[in-house]
Amino acid sequence: MSLTEFELIERYFHACGAERGDVKIGVGDDAAVLQCPADAHLAAAVDTLVEGVHFPRGSSARSIGHRALAVNLSDLAAMGARPAWALLALTVREADERWLAEFAAGLGTLARTHEVALVGGDTTHGPLSVTVTVLGHVPPERALRRDGGAAGDAVFVSGTPGDAAAGLALEQGRLPPGPHAQYLQRRFLFPTPRLALGERLRTLAGGCIDVSDGLLADALKLARASGCGVELTASALPLSAPLRDTVGLARARELALYGGDDYELCFTVPAQALEQLAAELPPAEWGYTRIGTLQREPGARVRDEHGVRAVHAPGYDHFAGG
Ligand code: ADP
Ligand code: MG
Repeated sequence: MSLTEFELIERYFHACGAERGDVKIGVGDDAAVLQCPADAHLAAAVDTLVEGVHFPRGSSARSIGHRALAVNLSDLAAMGARPAWALLALTVREADERWLAEFAAGLGTLARTHEVALVGGDTTHGPLSVTVTVLGHVPPERALRRDGGAAGDAVFVSGTPGDAAAGLALEQGRLPPGPHAQYLQRRFLFPTPRLALGERLRTLAGGCIDVSDGLLADALKLARASGCGVELTASALPLSAPLRDTVGLARARELALYGGDDYELCFTVPAQALEQLAAELPPAEWGYTRIGTLQREPGARVRDEHGVRAVHAPGYDHFAGG
């Protein structure tokens, strides 16, 4: 039995996310009506996942649902914003109920974890693609920005970059599975948006960006926006034990620098705020690591055992093709 569009929305998306009192009109009417706090600014982000581009064909529906929201929440985390509402534009080839139930479970579980209400969307027929819009709040003039860094700032990253790139390679059969395959695959399939860290960094960080295209590429975007260059130290990269055991140290460093899909935060802190950072957010508890420095000289550089080398065109660009 195939579902009508109305039934599909009612069954899978009506009660998918969190319930919030500030949703005056949610799924079901022509538009959502949302109550904004008087003392906050609105933060908004949208990201699209296309099958075969952002996730392999045949990926688990639960992961697609999770990632579609997670990549957007990660953008709000990078702004120091707190998410509140999401809209979902979903294009599917068919109304496959098992697929839809899994997809909604993936998206809904993450939404409820972060108290995000799904307040509307659109459902259409076609090649699989998922667009999520998230809306959240940030105190006036307190948003974190890419251009907030300065030469001399220390550069940090949260989590263990490189895991997701290895996980994707495993998903695609480009890397032979080992004992840590499941851990690494999950790091690609179910990224963790660093929302709590982003909010706490509002009063501590200079610049901030989320890492989606590769750590070095995104650190360079932050550096450029801040009118600086960036130098990262290879030996400082926080590599997970599963990643190192699976691909070895040299390849693990490469994946951490150039791999994508981490959805960690890369942020900078001025020298005079480093003590406060360590005191307020103990790194062991909050899971972040110092990896380099913003410098006056433009461009990206990596320091390793052999010295410092300039790195050109790092990271993934959809239009440049690699
Ligand atoms: P309209 O014709 O006015 O665009 P739709 O039939 O597309 O209305 O949608 C009906 C209601 O269901 C709207 O409130 C819309 O926001 C919501 N909706 C549609 N698709 C989704 C979805 N995938 N997730 C959440 N809400 C959805
Ligand atoms: Mg519509």
